[in-house]
Amino acid sequence: MAVSLDIAALRARRPDGIDLAATQGDGLGCHAGKDAMRAAAEAAGMSDTLAQYGRDYPTGPHDQPQSMCPAFGSLRVGLRMRRTATILSGSACCVYGLTFTSHFYGARRSVGYVPFNSETLVTGKLFEDIREAVHASARPDEFDAIVVINLCVPTASGVPLRLLPKQIDGVRVIGIDVPGFGVPTHAEAKDVLAGAMLKFARSEAESGPVQAPRGGRSQRPTVALLGEMFPADPVVIGGLLEPLGLSAGPVVPTREWRELYGALDAAAVAAIHPFYTASVREFEAAGRPVVGSAPVGHDGTADWLTAIGTVCDVPREQIAAAQNRLLPVIRGALSAAPIRGRITLSGYEGSELLVARLLVESGADVPYVGTACPRTPWSEPDRVWLEERGVSVRYRASLEDDLAALAAFRPDLAIGTTPVVQKAKEAGTPALYFTNLISARPLMGAAGAGSLAKVVNAALANRPRFDAMRAFFEGVGTGHAAGIWQDVPQAKAAPKARAAEKPVGEMA
Ligand code: SF4
Repeated sequence: MAVSLDIAALRARRPDGIDLAATQGDGLGCHAGKDAMRAAAEAAGMSDTLAQYGRDYPTGPHDQPQSMCPAFGSLRVGLRMRRTATILSGSACCVYGLTFTSHFYGARRSVGYVPFNSETLVTGKLFEDIREAVHASARPDEFDAIVVINLCVPTASGVPLRLLPKQIDGVRVIGIDVPGFGVPTHAEAKDVLAGAMLKFARSEAESGPVQAPRGGRSQRPTVALLGEMFPADPVVIGGLLEPLGLSAGPVVPTREWRELYGALDAAAVAAIHPFYTASVREFEAAGRPVVGSAPVGHDGTADWLTAIGTVCDVPREQIAAAQNRLLPVIRGALSAAPIRGRITLSGYEGSELLVARLLVESGADVPYVGTACPRTPWSEPDRVWLEERGVSVRYRASLEDDLAALAAFRPDLAIGTTPVVQKAKEAGTPALYFTNLISARPLMGAAGAGSLAKVVNAALANRPRFDAMRAFFEGVGTGHAAGIWQDVPQAKAAPKARAAEKPVGEMA
């Protein structure tokens, strides 16, 4: 049944902040295209938010790497936090995909959803529905915070999450816009939420006493760690910081609201993943120095200890003593687990350059590293180190960039995203999926030095199996064996029937 809208009446009923013109017609679905969505969002008063995203998450050389819906990054951060409810506002198809992916990755938590239709979007009823959902969910015995995420269509329509109450019965309300036409990758969407939470927590800490960390305050100055990493890595980093008289602080994105205060209270921040621009802004506003790169391999650990020790005013002799104690162990671990072979590497987690450094120090020939993340000051030491060793580093790498590298460098092993792995395997090249098999391993210090070698060497040794499989299945699934007619089937001329025979096709 066609629905006809009385636009004049609806316009009269809309709340401030909703641009009716931006929401009319059929032009606001994903199919409207990025430019139309962006124009609608700007018309709906979202220019400041989009301009800030443009500064925080610069695009180029092309505008957006092919990857999953960016909002997944924010959703995942919210779902991983204790006592945090997460509510999506967006098209049902987007919410279905995001919810599915969340549970595929083991969310074990409900995802809230406020549905809408043309009328509730146009009249502003959607905003009222969101506000109602937030009030209904704000149960202080269950939640510290409620996160509301505007997906593409509500963002383009200017649904004003900023007008939600900041707190309800002590439950914080964090509303963020995470449109695919403003936030390039899901990695950076993690930063959108982490940055918004840090901002909120910073204003709380500035206005009065806040909750202490669950385990009490550390006796030593701490270093907050930016970026989701393998659970053992913060422990290893703590061991590296110990001879400097420091300790590892909370990891941001945090798993609990009160950890945000601990992170803001750190003596320094280690931007282990280099794309947390909004979070860095909050740390800098709190007066915390931020150090890039990470303690990976021998050289990375040496430089990182110097950088962290310097910003934390650790005496030079103490830094040197720590290096003398720690670096030989890392060198020993690297030489005990060598990697031989040519490897191309690409991913969208933000740790690609760190992994490449580790591979190079393990002895691998790495001609290419592609990352979906942008170039930022916090990965500069890694870029410089890699390029000095002849590695081509590509920021905002597209699938085409990664596949071109695969074709050009003919690696013994391709580490990459799903389509890169698929392409490599089709060509008989061993391949490993970066997200599941590489980024989910310890990378830091001596523990990281040996951990990659096991999985990488096992994959490299698979080449003969790929050759055998390829030879066995040669031609299967292609050409005439694809199960698809290659040409329009031609009817065969029926043989002339002899008098004694039945005509072809006649039932007996
Ligand atoms: S929210 Fe935007 S980017 Fe995400 S699936 Fe929907 S249309 Fe695509």
